Amino acid sequence: MTATATTDLVTHYINGTWTTDWAGLTNELRNPATGQVTGRVALAGLDEVDRAVAAARAAFETYSHTTIADRVAMFSRIAAEFTRRAEDMAIAVTTDMGIPIAGSRIAVGAAILQFTSMIDTLPGYPFHDVAGDHIIDKDPVGVAALIPPWNYPSLQMAEKVAPALAAGCTVILKPAEIVSHAGEVFAQIMDAAGVPAGVFNLLVGKGSTVGTALSKHPGVDMVAFTGSTDVGIQVQKDAADTVKRVSQELGGKSAHIVLPDADLDLAVTTAVNGVMSNSGQTCAAPTRTLVPAPLLDDFLRRVKSAVDGLTVGDPMKEVDLGPVANQTQWHTVQDYIQIGLDEGATLITGGPGKPDPTASGWYVRPTVFADVTNNMRIAREEIFGPVMSVITYTGIDDAIRIANDSEYGLAGYVTGEDTDQAKRVAARIRAGQVVVNAVTPNLFAPFGGYKHSGNGRIWGTAGLEEYLETKAIVGQI
Ligand code: NAD
Repeated sequence: MTATATTDLVTHYINGTWTTDWAGLTNELRNPATGQVTGRVALAGLDEVDRAVAAARAAFETYSHTTIADRVAMFSRIAAEFTRRAEDMAIAVTTDMGIPIAGSRIAVGAAILQFTSMIDTLPGYPFHDVAGDHIIDKDPVGVAALIPPWNYPSLQMAEKVAPALAAGCTVILKPAEIVSHAGEVFAQIMDAAGVPAGVFNLLVGKGSTVGTALSKHPGVDMVAFTGSTDVGIQVQKDAADTVKRVSQELGGKSAHIVLPDADLDLAVTTAVNGVMSNSGQTCAAPTRTLVPAPLLDDFLRRVKSAVDGLTVGDPMKEVDLGPVANQTQWHTVQDYIQIGLDEGATLITGGPGKPDPTASGWYVRPTVFADVTNNMRIAREEIFGPVMSVITYTGIDDAIRIANDSEYGLAGYVTGEDTDQAKRVAARIRAGQVVVNAVTPNLFAPFGGYKHSGNGRIWGTAGLEEYLETKAIVGQI
């Protein structure tokens, strides 16, 4: 593969076979760094959905009874093949959605970890357990439709496929339309690793048709969805009539509490890296930075200096920020920057427009607002762009109150020298994963949302258990 992913037509992988004779509708795929067309994606319709569901249902009969040793062997092959194709995947992702290639490579490593961690987890997991006077069995839920978003696609596909297959489910993966090159590479990996026909299926196309059809389909037992809260609510409604399990990873507006004793260098690094990496398109980004009044001036001076030093440009090169994922996303972010100005927040750096107005890619100026109050829209709504809102607080109770005053509850961040105090503050934040004195989430710990950030958990054993039913066998055992 060259330094740009280009497949003329990305199509579906159903029952171990690629759909080669596609004569239906297609959409163009565009590189957000250049605006150039990189190929087309076949848009699956109801016929493809029915075929994929039938293939997954048929395969479930045998795959769900495979031994743990069989699954571990299969995961070893997948991990090896994924490692061999790592650079192809990284390039596909950067071509599709613009994350700088170095970040894409890190995410691919995290994706492979999803499979290798299951190799470690599976042998010791109690799928069959005697608990006093009864037996508890853990069975696979069945056919799982997996619907991830586009912002870290290699990881987001793997963090659903790996635990689902580890549990014994068969799957239909429907990646976000704009990351179809990445979806194609993922399916090629599964194919080359010898995943049995029907166990893994790929449908590419639109969420509004394929995603809806999968959510409603009587042959699908579970939907694992990651995406925006509005679409997550729709998926839940569509799945209700068939009483599916719906696991949701939704949006966020996470708070980063900088405690009065914080090491300001660390606080600034956490704030800037957390908000700006992947051009702010991170569900868990600490987009509300809570700073005690006495530290504010120093903090803002350092943040401005750090943000002004960020490079924005061609994501195939060594840059800090690439473009945002597409034109729609660019306009959304621009609208929010204007909203921040209109709401009376103080612009510290960045602002409307492209850093280089002549650039054809969808580049955004990394932007920091101060004097933000928690009732402003830029503090309440998920922007999904490189926009930091700095909010001043008066005391620790005030900081915790502000952090929790959000309809979201995905992540939290606490920076403070006294680790015991930082952990006490972390314990009071209503969010699924709280990071103390660091910025990177822990891929081995459960991750997911409180409140409107969802109800599911990914990663680690908790991620595996999303795909398991609990059966009790009682009586004369
Ligand atoms: P999105 O909600 O637009 O789309 C997510 C997925 O759902 C895509 O595959 C899309 O094709 C599909 N889809 C769209 N409409 C559908 C429908 N009616 N029925 C079924 N599926 C449908 O989200 P996005 O723009 O791709 O991603 C950004 C969002 O994802 C942000 O809100 C972000 O916070 C969230 N996100 C959450 C997490 C998490 O772990 N909580 C992680 C990453 C991203």
